[in-house]
Amino acid sequence: TEKKSLNFIEQAIVNDLKEGKNDGRVQTRFPPEPNGYLHIGHAKAINIDFSMAEKYNGVCNLRFDDTNPVKEDVEYVDSIKEDIEWLGFHWDNIYYASDYFQQLWDFAIMLIKQGKAYIDEQSAEQIAAQKGTPTTPGTESPFRNRPIEESLELFNKMNSGEVEEGAMVLRAKIDMANSNMHFRDPIIYRVIKHHHHRTGDQWKAYPMYDFAHGQSDYFEGVTHSLCTLEFEVHRPLYDYFIDELKDTTLSAGGDYRPRQMEFNRLNLTYNVMSKRKLLTLVKEDLVHGWDDPRMPTICGYRRRGYSPEAIKNFLNMIGYTKYEALNDFSLLESAVREDLNKRATRVSAVLDPVKLIITNYPEGKVEELECIDNPEDPNSPTHTIEFSRELWIERNDFMEDAPKKYFRMTPGKEVRLKNAYIVECTGCKKDEDGKITEVYCTYDADTLSGMPGASRKVKGTLHWLSSAHCLPAEVRLYDRLFSVENPAAEQDKDFRELMNPDSLTVLNNCYVEKYLTNFEPGSYLQFQRIGYFTPDKDSTKEKLVFNRTVGLKDTWGK
Ligand code: ATP
Ligand code: MG
Ligand code: MG
Repeated sequence: TEKKSLNFIEQAIVNDLKEGKNDGRVQTRFPPEPNGYLHIGHAKAINIDFSMAEKYNGVCNLRFDDTNPVKEDVEYVDSIKEDIEWLGFHWDNIYYASDYFQQLWDFAIMLIKQGKAYIDEQSAEQIAAQKGTPTTPGTESPFRNRPIEESLELFNKMNSGEVEEGAMVLRAKIDMANSNMHFRDPIIYRVIKHHHHRTGDQWKAYPMYDFAHGQSDYFEGVTHSLCTLEFEVHRPLYDYFIDELKDTTLSAGGDYRPRQMEFNRLNLTYNVMSKRKLLTLVKEDLVHGWDDPRMPTICGYRRRGYSPEAIKNFLNMIGYTKYEALNDFSLLESAVREDLNKRATRVSAVLDPVKLIITNYPEGKVEELECIDNPEDPNSPTHTIEFSRELWIERNDFMEDAPKKYFRMTPGKEVRLKNAYIVECTGCKKDEDGKITEVYCTYDADTLSGMPGASRKVKGTLHWLSSAHCLPAEVRLYDRLFSVENPAAEQDKDFRELMNPDSLTVLNNCYVEKYLTNFEPGSYLQFQRIGYFTPDKDSTKEKLVFNRTVGLKDTWGK
């Protein structure tokens, strides 16, 4: 039955709907902090947030979690929107946690007035040292029982600029002996003297994540607040602040309350997924920007030629569970292959060219041969490619002394030239160093595709380009960014040292068919017999540049 295939999140949503919770509404949000570009881990969160809202006639808002002005930037806000849209999702509204700074401030004042929050003038280190351990209670701050009036006055000073960063914080007064460490008087406000990208210099006191996230969910009407497993231990505090909030004049009334649910993070082999590390790679020029095709970012994968459908198929394949896992990068690649097989336009490119001369083909003759753009599509359009006496073929498609099972070009044997004729190899020419400079063959004029002779059995089919009718191109091949499976696990090493030195290979002596000038970056192409490719954003009419999206087969480690 369908029910069995639902993941635990969807199952919970279905149950909540059945029980009529929150008036039968489903509302989710995707809450990125605008301090970096989105990576495929974020796509996992985006996929569940937006698809649950879509499927259950709900609402999914995009909420920027902009509570730390030091690390945040509009550049990131714009890129996040672009990437979500590219993935094919549509938000209902855009909100910012900073929209709620006033309400959060008011709520904090209410807590202080109720004796449930106080100003602590100890340093962050002192506070941390008093936290205790999960099995021993913490030590109460000497400021814990200070007069309410004093805390109110100091809280105002925290926001007026009179208090230096780190000189004091606002803490919730909960329980220094609670077995959940997050209840041991968590810090809920701190001073940051930094211009905010939306509120400017209006605020100096900024709420901490735990004091902003759940309340923002509540103010917006979120019903299901989906996040990653590391927030599971924060959930009791999330619920505590919602309970407190419902007790104030900021309450929405009724039974409404958001429910936090946690799923496992996406971690990919041979990659790092932390924004801090990705930022380091960019800042130190260890990659060429956030959209470097080797990066696990959404913009990197877009530039590399991945389709949004492939990414979503992969995310649904690995699924949502309660168990942390390391996901195999090859699985993502095979999802990309599978999807691009359906949509890629088949074209010819020769990456390592050697000349092939058809000695019995008339000089000066040019034929326009028809090629099917995509044999997987019964209604596929076609395009033409020129054929002539001199062609380029791949250097490794010829071997002078070949073993028996070699079905490519070798003297005395026949091969088919894709969409063209059957040819028989007759020899080659070499330079003084023994390097092959030309390969020779004769063609059988009766064997053009569609002619009676074309049905003759020939084992190998080679791709080729007419040397007078093709265009030079640069081709960039990408490999794993890191040489170890799980860079994050090698804690005694600097992650930079774990990078794969051969993650980028640039081929400068390639040829492609002219038809390729018609394709924009992001187009899905298959260079026949080689792999999937897309034009890079650096590509111009004068200098064509292509990125290898993924090879045709998984040859990693082979
Ligand atoms: P990082 O830890 O890399 O800095 P983050 O979690 O701080 O990332 P946010 O912008 O706060 O990044 O994340 C927005 C949302 O995306 C959160 O709900 C978070 O749980 C989710 N998310 C982030 N990384 C992953 C991941 N690797 N897998 C699944 N979801 C993720
Ligand atoms: Mg973050
Ligand atoms: Mg985070």
